[in-house]
Amino acid sequence: MARPFDVTVRDSDEASDAACQHCGQEAPGSTLDRWNWCKTCRTDLNRKVRKGQYAVAALITLPFLVWILAEGTGTVLPTYAWALPLLASWYLGSRIGRVLVRNYLRSRPGV
Ligand SMILES: [Zn+2]
Repeated sequence: MARPFDVTVRDSDEASDAACQHCGQEAPGSTLDRWNWCKTCRTDLNRKVRKGQYAVAALITLPFLVWILAEGTGTVLPTYAWALPLLASWYLGSRIGRVLVRNYLRSRPGV
C-alpha cells in the first residue's frame, strides 16, 4: 500500500549522468561545465589553449620587438623604457589569444 506522501526516489545515477558534449562519454552531471564538457576534455582544452595563447602573444610581441630594435625608437623613449609596452603587448596578446583559441576550439564539433 502506497503511503500518502511517498516520494519516489529517482535513480540518482541515471538522473545526474549526462554525456559530454565533446567526447560523448557519460559523466556525472555535476562534473560537466556549462558547455557540458567533461573534466578530461576541459584539461585537454586548457592545455591546447595555453599553447595557442602564447603563440598569439608571440605573434603580436615579436614584430613589436623587432620594430623597437630596428627602427631606432630611442628618440621617443629610451630603449629600456620600451620594456613596459612590450610587457603590455605580451599580456594583452596572451589574453586575446586565450579568448580566440578557446572559442575556436569550443566551437569545433567533437574532434
Ligand atoms: Zn569529454
